[in-house]
Amino acid sequence: ETGFDVETVRKDFPILSRKVNGYPLVYFDNAATSQTPQQVIDTIVDYYSRYNANIHRGVHSLSQEATDAYEQARLKIRKHFNAAKSHEIIFTAGTTHAINLVASGFSALIKEGEEVIVSALEHHSNIVPWQMLCEKTGAVLKVIPMNDNGTLNMNEFQNLLSEKTKLVFVNHVSNALGTVNPVKEIIEKAHGVGAAVLLDGAQAAPHIKADVQELDVDFYTVSAHKMCGPTGVGVLYGKEEWLKKLPPYQGGGEMISTVTFEKTTYADLPHKFEAGTPNICGGIAFGAALDYMNGIGFEKIAAYEHELLDYATVKLLEIEGLRIYGTSEEKTAVISFNIGDLHPYDIGTIIDKLGVAVRTGHHCAQPVMDYYKIPGTVRASFAFYNTKEEIDIFIEAVKRAKNMLS
Ligand code: PMP
Repeated sequence: ETGFDVETVRKDFPILSRKVNGYPLVYFDNAATSQTPQQVIDTIVDYYSRYNANIHRGVHSLSQEATDAYEQARLKIRKHFNAAKSHEIIFTAGTTHAINLVASGFSALIKEGEEVIVSALEHHSNIVPWQMLCEKTGAVLKVIPMNDNGTLNMNEFQNLLSEKTKLVFVNHVSNALGTVNPVKEIIEKAHGVGAAVLLDGAQAAPHIKADVQELDVDFYTVSAHKMCGPTGVGVLYGKEEWLKKLPPYQGGGEMISTVTFEKTTYADLPHKFEAGTPNICGGIAFGAALDYMNGIGFEKIAAYEHELLDYATVKLLEIEGLRIYGTSEEKTAVISFNIGDLHPYDIGTIIDKLGVAVRTGHHCAQPVMDYYKIPGTVRASFAFYNTKEEIDIFIEAVKRAKNMLS
């Protein structure tokens, strides 16, 4: 028992007191999108009520206030991830945008026959952009296979590495199974052959405070909406040396230094990668979300979520025929499961009628489902504002679904 004061935390989340289909909401789809505390909602309302304006260009007061708040948020994010420089923090629309930015830029840095390595555990957004890169350049995509318990086969990874390897991209935490990957080891080994590493931190950032300098990672991506912030905003961290080498992703306003029809020169970092009017309010609200989560503390959050994970795992396994996919010792509070050959979609639909929100399907990780030869799973994912009482309601709902479907 961690003694986490969940009842106080829950008061910050207005959505948690609503009903769904006549039942109190039990929200266990946090790996898809987390809920938003009042502090972040207030930040958004305050922005649009008091200082909504375009940034970086205006001389008027509102524009300066908005610019200051946006740049303040960048500093908070830099500090949170311990980036060496604030211009190594690039605002994006989220993880998908961040990965596409790097993958697109690498087409200028990689040659036919050179190799890039992905893992079998990835979200489609960390697969497809690299396949597009390979199609464009003739680079070769290699895959680190997975083990039955949802971990990566690190011996095979070692065998894939060679002087041909230019880039390795894996998730820090798997969204489909919750596995925490041995990223430090992956980075050390990749650097050993001179390859760069991109970590998709979308699922790690809500639970683990990554230190990009300590990891020595080259690129790290996050989405605000998975960590108490709004949708449509996220961050690419990149080491300065890499961000200088990568060409711009999109052309437009804000990202230029000078424009003539003969030649355009690009702005310095971070603006080189921030074409157009950004999600200003979203960036500021992301900063507020980090303040909120740091106010609680990531160690406390992780410890309490593990308490929930252990509690739910034991109770679920009491259900006959239930199999959990992803049983690594190192995992976040995600449980992916099936019951016999019942369809995950049917289970999800029935428990929604009882107010319980889970994810069903392939979770944008079809290769993981193919490995287990299943079409999908039911995925319950917990956040620090969930309770054991909610887990009890969820378990009863799953049992009811099983009885109805069997
Ligand atoms: N990678 C992982 C591991 C994810 O879980 C997600 C979100 N489901 C993404 C990438 C994509 O994030 P976004 O949709 O916010 O761009």
